[in-house]
Amino acid sequence: LLRAEAVRKSFGTNEVLKGIDLHVAEGEVICLIGASGSGKSTLLRCLNLLEQVDDGDIWLDDQEITDPRIDEDEVRRQIGIVFQAYNLFPHLSVERNITLGPTEAGGVSALDAKARAAELLARVGLAEKAKAYPDALSGGQQQRVALVRAIAMRPRLLLLDEITSALDPMLVGEVLDVIRELRRDGMTIVMATHEMTFAREISDRIVFMADGLVEESGPPEQIFTAPRSPRTAEFLARHR
Ligand code: ATP
Ligand code: MG
Repeated sequence: LLRAEAVRKSFGTNEVLKGIDLHVAEGEVICLIGASGSGKSTLLRCLNLLEQVDDGDIWLDDQEITDPRIDEDEVRRQIGIVFQAYNLFPHLSVERNITLGPTEAGGVSALDAKARAAELLARVGLAEKAKAYPDALSGGQQQRVALVRAIAMRPRLLLLDEITSALDPMLVGEVLDVIRELRRDGMTIVMATHEMTFAREISDRIVFMADGLVEESGPPEQIFTAPRSPRTAEFLARHR
C-alpha cells in the first residue's frame, strides 16, 4: 500500500530522518516505537506530506506522492492523521467536525455525511454527543471523535501520533478500544506510541527507530522477547 524509500529530512543542521525505509501492506498495523526525538512524528508527518522530504521517495500504490506535481489534498484524503491533542475545531459541533471533510473535500452530501457521522459516533459510544462542542467532552471522548473524523473520510491508511499520550490514564482504554475495533475492520494503521503493552498486542509489526533510522523491525513477539539489536533491548528494558 505504502512504501517509503531512503527518506531523509533535516531541520536546519539537525538531520532527523537519515534514510528511512518503511513498507506498509494493506491491512497491516505497524507501531513505531523509539526514544523521544528519534523521528517518529517527523516520519508520520512526511508520510502525510505535512513535511516535505529532502531526499528519498514515498509511494502510495504506484503513485509517487513525493513528486512535486502531486495533489497534496488528494493524498491527505487517502492518508488520515490524528495527533496527540488539539485535533478538533473548537468552534464547531462534534457532528460538524466530522462532516466538514466529507462535505467540503469528499464530495459527500450533507445528509449522507450526517448519517455516517451518527453511525460512526454510535460505534464509539458517543451517539448522544453529536451536537456537543469539543470543550464539553473529556480528552478521551475528543480523541474518539478525532478518530471518527479521520475515518469519516474513508482513508486507505491511518496515521496515529501518540494519540493517547495527553490523556488521563483512566481515559486511555476507551481510545485504545477504538483502535482495536479499527483493526478488526481491516484498517491499515501506522501509529507512534509509548504504550508498549498495547503495541505488543495490536501490531503486526513493530518498527524501532533510533537516531533517525530504523534500527530494527519485526513481529511484536520477536521484538519484545528476542530483539536482535542491543539498542532495541536497551530501549525496551527502560520502557516496560
Ligand atoms: P517523541 O517521542 O518525543 O514524540 P519523536 O520520535 O516523535 O519524539 P520528532 O518529533 O520526530 O521525534 O523529532 C525529532 C527531532 O526533530 C527532534 O530533535 C526535534 O527537535 C526535531 N524537530 C521536529 N520537528 C521540527 C520542526 N518543525 N522544526 C525543527 N526541528 C524539529
Ligand atoms: Mg513524536
